[in-house]
Amino acid sequence: MAATIYYENDADLSHLKGKTVAILGYGSQGHAQAQNLRDSGCDVIIGQRPGSANYDLAVSHGFKPMSIDEATKAADVINVLLPDEVQGDVYRQQIEPNLKPGNVLMCSHGFNIHFGQIEPPKGIDTLLVAPKGPGHLVRSEYEKGGGVPCLIALGEGAAESTKQIGLAYAKAIGGTRGGVIETTFAEETETDLFGEQVVLCGGVSELVKAGFETLVEAGYQPEMAYFECMHELKLIVDLLYEGGLSYMRYSISNTAEYGDYVSGPRIITDETKAEMKKILTEIQHGEFARKWISENRAGAPFFKATRRLEREHGVEQIGRGLRRMMTWIDEKEV
Ligand code: NAD
Ligand code: MG
Ligand code: MG
Ligand code: MG
Ligand code: MG
Ligand code: MG
Repeated sequence: MAATIYYENDADLSHLKGKTVAILGYGSQGHAQAQNLRDSGCDVIIGQRPGSANYDLAVSHGFKPMSIDEATKAADVINVLLPDEVQGDVYRQQIEPNLKPGNVLMCSHGFNIHFGQIEPPKGIDTLLVAPKGPGHLVRSEYEKGGGVPCLIALGEGAAESTKQIGLAYAKAIGGTRGGVIETTFAEETETDLFGEQVVLCGGVSELVKAGFETLVEAGYQPEMAYFECMHELKLIVDLLYEGGLSYMRYSISNTAEYGDYVSGPRIITDETKAEMKKILTEIQHGEFARKWISENRAGAPFFKATRRLEREHGVEQIGRGLRRMMTWIDEKEV
């Protein structure tokens, strides 16, 4: 099943002509999408809380940010680029009361619409345009004349004209220069959650910690364990990013490649894959979303406690010191 991909000639900016686009939230995605839209000739307004650093940033970029209510009221196309965990409440209190029939409600991640935290009234189409990269790259690539590839998805029952607006929007932020892949809210949301939980964040974090612990418990120096199980990941990931598994394996030693083939499958086993399938099912059935939403409602006690505890893991303690030895690293401490 090949994906449908749209490019420059499939999108027409005129579908945004005469329409005002409100970017709600001037953060990572908001600041990039807003500036790209403006540079593409679109009429853009910003909804961002005064007194915040991002409010001042929007002002310094020549925008006149207003409240979420005001921006929603004044716009035809409203893109919710607030943190996912606040979108539901802000939607109910400040966005929904100000929507008008014919408005298009957009997002860059389907979590809240897919899991029913945002349920727009009849007459309001929903639309997703999601850059496959962080905001600073969406901006810098656009400025260079390129663009970060995007996903596009239409909400249930949305009109064909809304898709044209979505393609125009994707073009205006540079997406069609790279390519815009058609998906659905369900697919975007579920694959995003799965990838971050199983591979990118959950999988990698646990793999690093378990490898580090195994070496340290066997009496090896934690400094050595840090380099072998954490630091060198970047070399491997850079190779994967540029040329996939084959290029990574081409680039590493034959010894490392042989070890990959014989030991990798003993670490990620049938049992691991069975658990991956369970996690996917929980995501699909909305169990993960329900837990995360109620965790936030309760003030996120598990989340905050775990974050504190994880910061004190041995690999974190040793890493802080070692990264100071590597002056070329733009060291980040949280
Ligand atoms: P962010 O945290 O960088 O920015 C959010 C903005 O909302 C900030 O300007 C903040 O001041 C404002 N804000 C926070 N709480 C608020 C509240 N209660 N009321 C009003 N304003 C509030 O967010 P982001 O990373 O740009 O994410 C925005 C959306 O884009 C999310 O749906 C996210 O999943 C999606 N997305 C992000 C990325 C990324 O790389 N960051 C990539 C693709 C999609
Ligand atoms: Mg974070
Ligand atoms: Mg993702
Ligand atoms: Mg995500
Ligand atoms: Mg090595
Ligand atoms: Mg090799």
